[in-house]
Amino acid sequence: MTAKTMDELVSLCKRRGFIFQSNDIYGGIKGLYDYGPMGVELKNNLKQAWWKSMVYERDDIEGIDAAILSAPIVLKQSGHEDTFSDPLVDCKSCKSRWRADQLIDKKCPNCKSTDLTEPRPFNLMFKTVIGPVDEGSSFAYLRPETCQQIFTNFKNILDSTNRSIPFGVAQIGKAFRNEITPRNFIFRVREFEQMELEFFVTPGTDDKWHKYWTDNRLEWWISQGIRKNKLKLLTIPSKELAHYSKATIDIMYEFPHGEEELEGIANRTDFDLGSHTKNQKEFSLTSNVLKNNTSTTKLSVQNLEEKQAYIPYVIEPSAGVDRGVLAVLNEAYKEEKLHGENSRIVLNLKPHLSPIKAAVIPLKKNNEKIVNLSKDIKMNLQKIGLGRIMLENSGNIGKNYRRHDEIGTPICITVDFETLEDKTVTVRDRDTMEQKRISLDELIIYYTKYFN
Ligand code: ATP
Repeated sequence: MTAKTMDELVSLCKRRGFIFQSNDIYGGIKGLYDYGPMGVELKNNLKQAWWKSMVYERDDIEGIDAAILSAPIVLKQSGHEDTFSDPLVDCKSCKSRWRADQLIDKKCPNCKSTDLTEPRPFNLMFKTVIGPVDEGSSFAYLRPETCQQIFTNFKNILDSTNRSIPFGVAQIGKAFRNEITPRNFIFRVREFEQMELEFFVTPGTDDKWHKYWTDNRLEWWISQGIRKNKLKLLTIPSKELAHYSKATIDIMYEFPHGEEELEGIANRTDFDLGSHTKNQKEFSLTSNVLKNNTSTTKLSVQNLEEKQAYIPYVIEPSAGVDRGVLAVLNEAYKEEKLHGENSRIVLNLKPHLSPIKAAVIPLKKNNEKIVNLSKDIKMNLQKIGLGRIMLENSGNIGKNYRRHDEIGTPICITVDFETLEDKTVTVRDRDTMEQKRISLDELIIYYTKYFN
């Protein structure tokens, strides 16, 4: 189980259409990747599983989908303009640039020189121009984390729903960080997706909720097919905490390149709602430029017993979609010895994550009757709505099985001459490779049962 090296995963991802280097035909850009036909399905399935467990299966969480471009004042107030930076060093010998905190023995990883500049802070946020003229002052940031718009929409959400504390707001979306050294495939990239929950609680109950969400998130990753012994909890030492955090626990996973963060669960206290509340007025008083951007909205809730307003604390489980995709791919990857010299690569993905739920393979691609019946079978299964069913257009059964093993398709259904006569198909199971004949009447029940 699991890939031996990252290269094995990279190669499978390219060969089978999961993930490609972005701008590939022009030489690529470091830290940017594109999801191909299989990758987009896997990624969507993982996001859907998260959304289901956060929003649909609970009664205390709402969802939003906010804009990516952020007004600078939001990221000023959140502390990102001042503190969201990594220490940058230049190698004076080979002119390469590195993150000082990731160097081993303070040596340049490229040429091993120790002749490096002093570290200086490098802000990781991308800027872009708003409007047709680049005046310098009218710019926006590409959000470096998805959560700030949950905080700025806090009152809108409270006013438009029936929520009271404790409750949460979930969001999945893109985030951008100008990483100094993007690396390890999709592990550290410059454009990625996050699945973030901001769960608002009464101060004083925050430690209890922090533990609750840490346990919940660990269990969720296990339910996505990640073995328990590959996951660890790491309590971040207080001197390394982000500026907004009172306590953070990282869920660490054994990636092919080493043990690293998959998700962070932070106790952000009332830092964000507080700073978006208390500074707004100061800004409107001190700066004309910012005046239009300010609001006097108080991001607080009423304590009905004590009849006074307070700012809730927030617990934030923040997971990377791309790191999640990498982890589930790695866990599912298996090179299996078959009889003789043969072997196969198979992705033992949890069926709900598989890009293709079932492949329908007409044994003779030129036989109209077989092809038409295959199309009907595909559409009948597709209508059930559990995910993509693929109609194969090549009759080479061996090649089809190999391909579908490698992309993790749980079931292959072969339609042949016998099907035309007795209305039965061959069903092959990905994991056991067992094949059995079942009738078309049974097929839908078999398929539905498999996924439930
Ligand atoms: P790291 O220490 O690895 O840089 P971080 O602590 O800065 O990560 P957070 O700010 O806690 O990360 O972001 C929440 C999640 O977003 C991370 O757990 C990770 O899964 C994902 N993430 C953060 N930065 C990146 C990146 N550059 N590429 C891919 N995913 C990322």
